[in-house]
Amino acid sequence: MKIITILGARPQFIKASVVSHAITQTTSLQEIVVHTGQHFDDNMSDVFFTELGMTKPDYFLGIHGGNHGAMTGRMLEAVEQVLLYEKPDVVLVYGDTNSTLAGALAAAKLHIPVAHVEAGLRSFNMAMPEEINRILTDRISRWLFTPTQSAADHLKREGFAPASIIPVGDVMYDVALHHGARVQSNVRLLEQLGLDAGNYVLTTIHRAENTDDSERLDAIVLALIATAKTLPVVWPLHPRTRAVLKQSGRLDALSRVVHLIEPVGYLDMVQLEKFAALIATDSGGVQKEAFFHQVPCVTLRDETEWTELIEAGWNRLAPPVDAASLQSAITAALGSRGNDVKPYGTGDAAGQIVTWLRKGMGV
Ligand code: UDP
Repeated sequence: MKIITILGARPQFIKASVVSHAITQTTSLQEIVVHTGQHFDDNMSDVFFTELGMTKPDYFLGIHGGNHGAMTGRMLEAVEQVLLYEKPDVVLVYGDTNSTLAGALAAAKLHIPVAHVEAGLRSFNMAMPEEINRILTDRISRWLFTPTQSAADHLKREGFAPASIIPVGDVMYDVALHHGARVQSNVRLLEQLGLDAGNYVLTTIHRAENTDDSERLDAIVLALIATAKTLPVVWPLHPRTRAVLKQSGRLDALSRVVHLIEPVGYLDMVQLEKFAALIATDSGGVQKEAFFHQVPCVTLRDETEWTELIEAGWNRLAPPVDAASLQSAITAALGSRGNDVKPYGTGDAAGQIVTWLRKGMGV
């Protein structure tokens, strides 16, 4: 039985690493990996294949840049060609990017069943491109692998057939367990940056709602500059964020007070996360990794899909409306801890997904 995995963005390489590994352990399944090209730099793409032990993609479509419609349309056309040629039994997609939607749509139009990993997440904010992608992908998927109870509840409320909703837990928890342990006491990167374990703030920003809104981005930048007066701040810059900061002339001022670095590989990122005093982010994955490594988190957004961490006290929302409130949210969260909860399954989501796919395909 042939599975085609469609991926293209950094978090998808990380999520797919554990599922692809589980597929290779199953002799009755063959996986073909299609990389759309949405993220293509070495440090946004190749490093994850190398570090997480994944085989190179079978197809690289080289599609990136442009407006959402153009990018998704080009992906749709190119993925369709691959599907027509390969004739897979199932198409596997991850998360909520344009690559997710294009892969799912190309498959559904060819009547190939779609399996969606990380189904059912909702921000209830239709201004987010991710929300549009995930709602549409869920709608045309046959198997909806949900990471949390709330994701399964959303799908039930939206009227999906109970049999199509499959709670497996979060594959990112699998990854954190598999690969996180490789970063025990290796603090090479901290040494290079001159940071002391437990004594810095790690930040990541990449969501369009923050990068494409100059008032929100200003609030974030000013809050981080203020924070850096008392605690070092390290910021691996997403290429989109770097471009916006550069274009608006903010990059130089920021680089004088904040450790601005290039995006790092997964193992370096885990190292930065594990030893941070606090993480301030708009990333979905990083919010959960903060919790996996028991580090307090401030989410620089108006809402989050990972509400269980807010309820448990590990995370709090700080909408980037003004610098002062952001800075006080960061200060207030320092040193805090949440409740002892386990909302993301047992760390075997990948194995469960493969078992379900085999069952679904009758092998
Ligand atoms: N990440 C990384 N290097 C970085 C920044 C993030 O390896 O410089 C990892 C991070 O540890 C997490 C994933 O990328 O596993 C999150 O991806 P991103 O924030 O791009 O997307 P999101 O999770 O918001 O969809």
